[in-house]
Amino acid sequence: MNATEIQELRARFRGELIGPDDAGYDAARKVYNAMIDRRPALIVKCADVADVIAAVNLAREKKLLLAVRGGGHNGPGLGVCDGGLVVDLSRLKGIRVDQQSRSVRVEGGCLWGEVDHATHAFGLAVPSGFLSTTGVGGLTLGGGIGYLTRQYGLTIDNLLGVDVVLADGRLVTASVEENADLFWAIRGGGGNFGVVTSFLFRGHPVQNVYGGPIFWPIDKGPELLRFWRDFIEKAPEDINGWFGYATVPPVPMFPAEHQMKKVCVITWCYTGDPAKAEAAFKPIRAFSPPLMDFCGPIPFPVLQSLFDGLYPAGLQWYWKADFFQDLSDKAIELHQKYGERLPTPHSTMHIYPINGAAGRVPKGDTAFSFREAKFAEVIVGVDPDPASNPRLMQWAKDYWLALHPFSSGGGYINMMMDEGEDNVKAAYRDNFARLAQVKKTYDPTNLFRVNQNIKPAAA
Ligand SMILES: Cc1cc2nc3c(=O)[nH]c(=O)nc-3n(C[C@H](O)[C@H](O)[C@H](O)COP(=O)(O)OP(=O)(O)OC[C@H]3O[C@@H](n4cnc5c(N)ncnc54)[C@H](O)[C@@H]3O)c2cc1C
Repeated sequence: MNATEIQELRARFRGELIGPDDAGYDAARKVYNAMIDRRPALIVKCADVADVIAAVNLAREKKLLLAVRGGGHNGPGLGVCDGGLVVDLSRLKGIRVDQQSRSVRVEGGCLWGEVDHATHAFGLAVPSGFLSTTGVGGLTLGGGIGYLTRQYGLTIDNLLGVDVVLADGRLVTASVEENADLFWAIRGGGGNFGVVTSFLFRGHPVQNVYGGPIFWPIDKGPELLRFWRDFIEKAPEDINGWFGYATVPPVPMFPAEHQMKKVCVITWCYTGDPAKAEAAFKPIRAFSPPLMDFCGPIPFPVLQSLFDGLYPAGLQWYWKADFFQDLSDKAIELHQKYGERLPTPHSTMHIYPINGAAGRVPKGDTAFSFREAKFAEVIVGVDPDPASNPRLMQWAKDYWLALHPFSSGGGYINMMMDEGEDNVKAAYRDNFARLAQVKKTYDPTNLFRVNQNIKPAAA
């Protein structure tokens, strides 16, 4: 769009309109993953819900490709598009904590760190992820796996309702009581059904926890994975810990002799009685002497933001994901093989436990299908230098291919790249047909298609 066309549109919006000729264009089109470089025709930084409605109407009327940007963290960059219109929600920052009902109302452009900050003051937390810079919108709509998953379920299991701008420009509320089919689909179905301008979450009494990373030498990997697999299967649900292969960053908090060493790490979060924390961690520390132990009392928002500095915006990212029912000794052997070959210092592989509360939600209750899976794996090639991309992509693909035969057959949509329809189908399995029906009802022309796309069911 040229400057004159954009000028004519300005009267329709309270928020900022940014086109290719505007000074802020390059900053506004940038997303978290620097591998993504798209040039939309227009970015609307919505000031309110009316702006969201106007932007959706404009895209529909002018037949513009429409992307919706929450936190902009999506791996394949699905918060931005080439040549179309971006509904940027980053100005929608309202958060209201209701102490009485422990519910938390969050506007569509918030990041999780902002929610943590707001709820911590009231001794509450909403189950989210493992990083504070991720957007509430994308993370929630895809499911939401994090430190509180074993105890309180996925983020969607704590979602009480949403306000959504639909493809026809109407704003509706969806909850168990209202537009229940839409509410079912939105809990896991991603941004396929509309623009969520506001989320209502259930908060939980989590304020200060006992947590942080414990590192072991990389050659302990297979033994540690077997220990952790068995421990986390039976552990009380107030203990969570995810496994990772990593490289110790070259920063002063780590002893110089360990910096840049490849290691395995479990990052813990215990929300139980603080007086019992040391006893709860005794078997973990007794497993084998850690290389470094940073686990202790910590405010929940600090734990949530522990890795923010290590992964700033602007790095190159390539992800592959799968769910697993179990972690066989053969699979562990392969993990070790590829874990020892992390291609760059930022590259990593994580396995998140999703048993406990998340696993007790019946599969048909939300669009998120893999409720029986015990683990979510994500293989992540990351580096500041674009020249490393072929190397980190090849490693991630090879690693994923080696482990995929042991998987449940589909991955977490929030941790996939743009991998095509078959992979989206595999991610939803037997929920896919119902999702396509709901899509037909609420977005029959597939206006919302810059996402892990579910096409409307055929007439
Ligand atoms: C460093 C990093 C750490 C991560 N950690 C975790 C984690 O711990 N747990 C976890 O579960 N996931 C995690 N993720 C994955 C994350 O959930 C996805 O990348 C998610 O898509 C990010 O959401 P966003 O709003 O920031 O992204 P965006 O790029 O803004 O959007 C992603 C998708 O969601 C849609 N969308 C976003 N907001 C809305 C909205 N309000 N209404 C409608 N559609 C919307 C967009 O259209 C797009 O399709 C992480 C990602 C990164 C890069």
